[in-house]
Amino acid sequence: MIQFSEQEVDSLRQRAAGNDRIIKKLLARVEPVLKHGVNIPEKAVATWTLYYYCPVHSVGLELRYEDGSRHRCPVCDKDYEGEPYDGAWWRFVNGINADSCYDLALLWLLTGEENYRSIAEAILLRYATYYPSYEIHGGIPYNNPGKANAQTLCEAVWIRSLAMGYDIIKETLTMQNRQLIDDNLFTLCAELLMEYRMDQIHNHEVLVGGAMGMLGVLLERPDIMEFAIHTKYGLVYQLEHAVLQDDFWFEGTFHYHYFALEAFMVYEKFVRRTPYGLLQRPEYRNMLKMPIRLLQPEFKLPTIGDGVGDILREHLPAFYEFAYTVYGDWEFAWMLNQHYRTHDRNNLEAFLYGVDELPATSEFNLQDYHDNEHSGFTVFRGKGQRYLLIKHGKYGGEHDHYDKLGIQFSAFGEDIIPDLGTTGYGAQLHYDYYKNTATHNTVAINGANQPPANGRTIKYERHGSQILLEAEAVWDGSFPGIDSLTRVEWSEADYSNIKMRRLILWRDRYFVEAFLVENAAGRSVDWIVHSRGELGGVHNETALKEYPALDANKPLKYVREVQRHKPEGTMHTSWKYRNCTTSLFSFCTEPHLVIYAMGPDNPSTSEISYMLSRVEGGNDVLYVNVFEAYEDDRPYILNASIKSVDRRHVSVILETEDGRKEHQFEIGLAN
Ligand SMILES: [Zn+2]
Ligand SMILES: [Zn+2]
Repeated sequence: MIQFSEQEVDSLRQRAAGNDRIIKKLLARVEPVLKHGVNIPEKAVATWTLYYYCPVHSVGLELRYEDGSRHRCPVCDKDYEGEPYDGAWWRFVNGINADSCYDLALLWLLTGEENYRSIAEAILLRYATYYPSYEIHGGIPYNNPGKANAQTLCEAVWIRSLAMGYDIIKETLTMQNRQLIDDNLFTLCAELLMEYRMDQIHNHEVLVGGAMGMLGVLLERPDIMEFAIHTKYGLVYQLEHAVLQDDFWFEGTFHYHYFALEAFMVYEKFVRRTPYGLLQRPEYRNMLKMPIRLLQPEFKLPTIGDGVGDILREHLPAFYEFAYTVYGDWEFAWMLNQHYRTHDRNNLEAFLYGVDELPATSEFNLQDYHDNEHSGFTVFRGKGQRYLLIKHGKYGGEHDHYDKLGIQFSAFGEDIIPDLGTTGYGAQLHYDYYKNTATHNTVAINGANQPPANGRTIKYERHGSQILLEAEAVWDGSFPGIDSLTRVEWSEADYSNIKMRRLILWRDRYFVEAFLVENAAGRSVDWIVHSRGELGGVHNETALKEYPALDANKPLKYVREVQRHKPEGTMHTSWKYRNCTTSLFSFCTEPHLVIYAMGPDNPSTSEISYMLSRVEGGNDVLYVNVFEAYEDDRPYILNASIKSVDRRHVSVILETEDGRKEHQFEIGLAN
């Protein structure tokens, strides 16, 4: 066996004998197959799981392993028949079969019960029988085809589990059956993966490369291993080119950071006893540590870019159990201990790959974070769980959002100025709304999406408890491109020659923010902030009117206007959310409109408050804002007066609970 030594198998058996909960967990996972018998498609009929939704209610249909002809919506109780539901159902069934093959093989390994082994073998033999005649099929956007499944990606995920199951029971099979499975299933699949791996850095190619590597080891084929590990876009190439200098996976989201890591780890767990593992390289260890530094209070990762579900909560043991055993870093034990405060450690990852007992770990003192231009995250932390994150790093490809220089702010346990994240990628609002610039807390030009840009830091300075950051993004044709597939969802023309600078002056109880937009003549500039809670007292108001729709185009077509104002001088706005108030003093150098609106939150059944500060036609526009979050209706800042004569030098005078505070700074001058 490749994945476990004899000694490890003995130890696993002993521990399983005294722990029937692991056996029960495995049995629950293989229940459909044990109960209904194995269901293997004779033809290449599987398509894409994203088709398995009620077209009326956009909710997932109920999956029954034993019945592929009717697919019921849990909301309207309607049974859907035919395509695209049948094909999507087969994709799920292929997944259940492959995972069951591995789980049944494990069950046999741990209990010695022949029934489990023989069903695992039957799954492999039946796929080996049909696989050569499965037609290559696909047509899923941005994905190459598969044979058993419709994407190369799905083929990789599916074959990995079959390979792991096979490895466990292989020695019990006749030579003839081994030959059949090796030739008709694994060799053909490895060849397919080699042919259709895409030329890009991307989490998909890690999955494909990892699966290919597992097959190469299983088949003892050095040529497949070479292709999987050492060719351009192979596993080593991905580690060297897709992991940024501050150890963040390039795709601009923590979800895909962990998703890629998980794919690497599945491969490493399988090959760790062979010469083909990459665990001695520095990247995994650094990638595992990186998100810990960005953690929000209450053990949450900030929501950035694409991603559905809470991958850290759902899969944390898969990342850190094995990693702690291999590397022994105390942060990994700390992550596990945090997780097990609310979760049972009796899971398969801990059972198969974890240490017997985790050490006690002292409290982790979370610090501020700053990276100049790779991930380009700066995190400011303060009392009362205050947490501000600004994004000024590299463009991350298809899973990034168009939110350069965007901020998100939480305090007192509430995400009061949030990043909305997104929803299922098949849902209309994913591309139409959540990924867009105007649904983020940044500046949008003509309501359009920012094209890709690599941000950078101009200044990051600490003076006592004060931190000053100035960051930049420009659209002057200097973006070098990215070696990963993208989907054009932006407007080059609207942003042509635009230069943006954002400055944060961080104090413990409040922060000053300045946003300078240059070369915007002839365009409309929207500074946008989204706040949870009810709009409170608005001062300096000149007009109150009800307006219906904010814009005819996406994403603002989903946003309805509430009020608009033509303010002069410094304007005050506040939103109350539970016991927390967000207070905002705002100023703009140009004649502008302040628009209050309401739009979809996430989930879209709830709403979030919008504030847009809109300037039409100014060439250089400077916005300056003072943000404060406070509890119990007790503000620290009582009044603010903001001035800038030349759009570069700013004076902010605050009247606070403990006297007058003055801040003078410049923006847009340093290089
Ligand atoms: Zn329905
Ligand atoms: Zn976002």
